[in-house]
Amino acid sequence: MVHRILVTGASVAGNTAAWWLTRFGCKVEVVEKAPTFRGGGQNVDVRGSAREVLRSMELEEAAFSLRTPEKGTEWVDENDSTIARFEAGSDGDDNGPTAELEIRRGDIAKLIYDATLERATYRFGDSIELISQHDRRADVTFTSGRKERYDLVVVAEGVGSHTRELVFPGENEPRWMDLMIAYFSIPREPHDSDFARVYNTVEGRGATLKPARNNMLGAFVGIHRKPEGEHKWTLEEQRQYILEQFSNDGWEFPRILNVMKDVDDFYFEVLRQVHMKRWSNGSVVLTGDAAWCPTGVSGIGTSLAIVGSYVLAGELYKTNDKLAALRSYEAIMRPFVKEGQNIPKIVPRMLWPQNAFELKLMRAAMRVANNPLVKKLFASSFARDSNQIELPHYAVRQEIGN
Ligand SMILES: Cc1cc2nc3c(=O)[nH]c(=O)nc-3n(C[C@H](O)[C@H](O)[C@H](O)COP(=O)(O)OP(=O)(O)OC[C@H]3O[C@@H](n4cnc5c(N)ncnc54)[C@H](O)[C@@H]3O)c2cc1C
Repeated sequence: MVHRILVTGASVAGNTAAWWLTRFGCKVEVVEKAPTFRGGGQNVDVRGSAREVLRSMELEEAAFSLRTPEKGTEWVDENDSTIARFEAGSDGDDNGPTAELEIRRGDIAKLIYDATLERATYRFGDSIELISQHDRRADVTFTSGRKERYDLVVVAEGVGSHTRELVFPGENEPRWMDLMIAYFSIPREPHDSDFARVYNTVEGRGATLKPARNNMLGAFVGIHRKPEGEHKWTLEEQRQYILEQFSNDGWEFPRILNVMKDVDDFYFEVLRQVHMKRWSNGSVVLTGDAAWCPTGVSGIGTSLAIVGSYVLAGELYKTNDKLAALRSYEAIMRPFVKEGQNIPKIVPRMLWPQNAFELKLMRAAMRVANNPLVKKLFASSFARDSNQIELPHYAVRQEIGN
């Protein structure tokens, strides 16, 4: 069992890892680049085995109390008339576009953070600047100038992880999904329903309005197009780009853009998967999006982050051989991650039509997708089967790490 652990990144993966590692008796420090806890983000799904992990953390009920009121997903046309409707959990499983446990990213990250605060030490506004390894330990210099030695560093910094690039230079072979999405919140209006509404227009452009709590909606505005470095732009450049791209569109766009101009939770992502041939290098290990980001279109990124961090902590707890534990963590998670990342590019291509003909075709397909059999097939393109993994069980020694 390793003892002194640094977790870097205080979101879903990092907080879950810290929760379990402290339960298993480790001394855990979490370092987060943002100056305070980073909330924000729109709806994410927690499915299958991740629900089981939350249940054993006794957080599932609390997560349910925070879930969004979303009852399902509807595809709509210019007049907001429904083309196809998928109800949450209506197929007897939880693999549709709306999961039974749909929650805002900031809410689930905060829930786990609050439950971990007492046992782990959190440091905000700092990050790893340099890292080297000696005697099976990691020596870290932080941007604040602090220097520390750890038995293990768990990197949970998300898709654009800086530490991953320091420790595994050039090893990530990103798979770009040719999709960029802006996420932000807008106030709910009386005509909004409890179904997420998805609207597409031509040139690979579209938006989804998702019901959230507190009389708000999550707006997802997306463009299916080959990326040209937009992920490196400033937030203001990204916001301006979205404004320009949709300024002549109808449906709910005038309302969406009007609010978007001033929102403070604007988050922009050029969707890319992370593909790493290995997830650990000596005493540094990757988890969550930093290791395997499957992207938001998979519907499984948050679930994988929860399950992966749990398995990592559990495998470390089982043995004194750190390297063997990192190998078995990888062996358990690889098949699950492979399934989660298996999104044929044709799926986003079909769902984001380029011209009027493709739009017509897509809507016709949606109408057929209302047939229960086709619906099941169709729905499985949105979410990976999150029950594929047989979750290992690790006995928690509550008395340690208090
Ligand atoms: C602000 C925000 C909003 C999001 N909104 C959505 C959304 O609307 N829809 C969606 O599907 N997904 C969203 N995501 C991504 C989603 O949270 C993840 O795909 C998933 O939950 C896996 O989580 P993770 O913990 O692996 O990574 P993330 O949730 O991306 O968390 C990474 C954490 O590491 C921190 N970090 C980054 N670099 C460093 C560093 N060098 N040192 C220390 N800390 C660092 C980040 O600030 C962040 O807190 C969002 C992520 C963030 C950070």
